[in-house]
Amino acid sequence: MPKYVYGFTEGNKDLKDLLGGKGANLAEMTNIGLPVPPGFTITTEACRHYLRHGDMPGGLEEEAGEHLAALEARMGKRLGQADDPLLVSVRSGAKFSMPGMMETVLNIGLNDDSVLGLAKQSGNDRFAWDSYRRLIQMFGRTVLGVDGELFEDALDDLKGDRDDTDLGTAELQRLVETFKGIVRAQAGRDFPADPREQMDLAVRAVFESWNAPRAILYRRQERIPAGLGTAVNVVAMVFGNMGPDSGTGVAFTRDPGSGRRGVYGDYLRDAQGEDVVAGIRNTVPLQELETINPEAYHELLGIMATLERHYRDLCDIEFTIERGRLWMLQTRVGKRTAEAAFRIATQLVDEGLIDMDEAVTRVTGDQLAHLMFPRFSATGSSHRLTTGMNASPGAAAGRAVFSSERAVELAGRGEAVILVRRETNPDDLAGMIAAHGVLTSRGGKTSHAAVVARGMGTTCVCGAEELEVDPHARRFTAPGGVVVNEGDLISIDGSTGAVYLGEVPVTASPVARYFEGGPVEDELVRAVDRVMTHADAVRRLEVRANADTPEDAARARRFGALGVGLCRTEHMFLGERRRLVEDLILAPGGSKERQVALDALEPLQTADFAGIFEAMRGLPVTIRLIDPPLHEFLPDLTDLAVRVAVAGERAGERDRRLLEAVRRLHEQNPMLGLRGVRLGLAIPGLFAMQVRAIAAAARQVEGARAEIMIPLVGAVQELEIVREEAARILAEAGVEAAIGTMIEVPRAALTAGQIAGAAEFFSFGTNDLTQMTWGFSRDDVESAFFGRYLDLGVFGVSPFESIDRDGVGRLMRIAAEEGRRARPGLKLGICGEHGGDPDSVHFCHEIGLDYVSCSPFRVPVARLEAGRAALACPGSDSR
Ligand code: PEP
Ligand code: MG
Repeated sequence: MPKYVYGFTEGNKDLKDLLGGKGANLAEMTNIGLPVPPGFTITTEACRHYLRHGDMPGGLEEEAGEHLAALEARMGKRLGQADDPLLVSVRSGAKFSMPGMMETVLNIGLNDDSVLGLAKQSGNDRFAWDSYRRLIQMFGRTVLGVDGELFEDALDDLKGDRDDTDLGTAELQRLVETFKGIVRAQAGRDFPADPREQMDLAVRAVFESWNAPRAILYRRQERIPAGLGTAVNVVAMVFGNMGPDSGTGVAFTRDPGSGRRGVYGDYLRDAQGEDVVAGIRNTVPLQELETINPEAYHELLGIMATLERHYRDLCDIEFTIERGRLWMLQTRVGKRTAEAAFRIATQLVDEGLIDMDEAVTRVTGDQLAHLMFPRFSATGSSHRLTTGMNASPGAAAGRAVFSSERAVELAGRGEAVILVRRETNPDDLAGMIAAHGVLTSRGGKTSHAAVVARGMGTTCVCGAEELEVDPHARRFTAPGGVVVNEGDLISIDGSTGAVYLGEVPVTASPVARYFEGGPVEDELVRAVDRVMTHADAVRRLEVRANADTPEDAARARRFGALGVGLCRTEHMFLGERRRLVEDLILAPGGSKERQVALDALEPLQTADFAGIFEAMRGLPVTIRLIDPPLHEFLPDLTDLAVRVAVAGERAGERDRRLLEAVRRLHEQNPMLGLRGVRLGLAIPGLFAMQVRAIAAAARQVEGARAEIMIPLVGAVQELEIVREEAARILAEAGVEAAIGTMIEVPRAALTAGQIAGAAEFFSFGTNDLTQMTWGFSRDDVESAFFGRYLDLGVFGVSPFESIDRDGVGRLMRIAAEEGRRARPGLKLGICGEHGGDPDSVHFCHEIGLDYVSCSPFRVPVARLEAGRAALACPGSDSR
């Protein structure tokens, strides 16, 4: 039979799975000789059994009875003993901290008899009766399901304007009777007088609180698995509410906000822990304890130093002082801000407590990203209009504009602008570059707006569906009828998705300045620099960037990218070149006009590529041949049809032909239509023109290292045809360049062994691979129903954000293994958005990829996570 109960002397800090965080750390503190009230822990395994079967596992009652007897022997008194009662607390404690989400009951063991014993032993009638009323209140609410307000109301009625502490013994005795009456009326039973029954029922209630709605919600948000269950700690009570020489407090061994050393915490005199949480009276800074009780204060500082040395990390603690004597009620490695995490990690190295390897594992990519973006200095008093999806982090404030042209115009005059659109398309690029931030009412995290904004490091909130954007009237309407017109100031928070009316002040990031080549000027930046240098030294994965322009490439290089993993060529067909693309489409296949159009595009493309090769001199640049459906470069069907209809007989020949082409090329499912390699095969000459331009640019720039990548391949035959032509053109030009493919169609992953025969490298296009594996439209599903899916727990995180290991990840594994089996030297990378996602970087490390490629601003995050992955630390979990 499994062991379900552990005394504090039996556990240790590494048994969190079984004993929960609180139980494991209480055991650890007991074992290193700190003053912990004695007690025992009922395991999470018992909880899991209870939740599965609705009943306690066999033998638990006896085992708990034995531990209780040992506790009684140790304390020299029995639970609820009439003349001198032992009282216990029953506290929840799961593996991951879930603050305030589950239940705790204090003062178990009190009844009409033992309250008198407690009064006598403590010499304090008031305290005894106050403890008793607290028990009935807490027990009634958490164990018997009575509405807590009823107790609160009764208490308020009695006290009027006075403080809790002003209530006298007689009043508290009356309150106890009132509370008992509430229990009887509401729960249909008497408050149980039997101490052991109190304890057993409280244990059950804690188990059940694992599935309380707020606990379920919290777990979903924090990605805590629902099947873990909670442990229960039964601990001898110590009292902070025994008078002015007692009290309770919380403390941190360093400042969790900044990481600075010092004494941080709060203390509340003559109180129990619940009073601190409830905010009944104001706490005082912990330093004041030095005057109140210097002995306990210095003992506490000593214990904090011991805990830091022992855990080799910042700890947070809860303590109680009972009549001058200090007791430790809890400790754990404390949560901290991103800034504190970097500072503390390097401080601990300097103090000789950890080495640099460990320092790298103590910070996360998410924390680094957080430090890299500008932030609002305060949002408290700002008017929030709505919340959309947090698509590209950072904070931006500026004037709302509703077209790309207007964004460029106002930005040109030195105005900060936020580009507001229903959704963006490649035509909005100039406006997006000019804008401080981008706000859309449609689309998810892989929508055009999100991908492009992330790539540029521009703050973006997308899919803010409550906003009605009217680009023609140049305004949007927010819930409550608030209308924002062009020129009005708004602010958007790309880290939370919040949209505010008015200008919220923004602070720039010194860490971003450092990555841009700025000085290592303060302690935080120094800490980041040290951690990054070490992460680079230990990582196996190379980090490249997705960059389409020389500026992006140059920035990526400054941020530490060792090449371009994806240069999308489609934006190079926009703007003034659109007319050439139209000519190309309008010209009949094989005609002279088509060749003329291609010939006109070629030198322009050559210049594009030469610019990127310049910026990346000496480093590899993977250029992807054109991918999107061609009709994306043609005018909108409705606009054009209206124009032609309105013009009637006077409609120009070109417009008529264009309309015909637009109709001909119109697709119901363009994402599954004529795009990628299919375009290369359907429009002879198009890919050849791009390859010739790459070759010409590579000849122009010394140190250029081109790689040519074919998108959307599903069958090796497709790749072979394109490859043959590309290889011939390269050979004629005397240029060497690897030719590879994206793996973004499930069939490509499943036939990777064949495809590797024609590819020198694979780059996983996990945006499309996720879309096609799940059958989820990238552009639609996130805002349509992902919120609901996340609530229902279908997945804990969007598969467009973090690689779905079981499905998409499995295909990647198959492709990696079969590809390498067919071609041992096959280079493997990833260039979907997941390349900059911390968990996905770990996955890519695990399956043996050579590199990840992500947007320039994510490059530092990917470098850090690649380092952490090499040190085998699990994910980027910061729970
Ligand atoms: C992908 O599909 O993952 C990819 C990188 O290509 P795109 O996002 O341009 O379709
Ligand atoms: Mg793709």
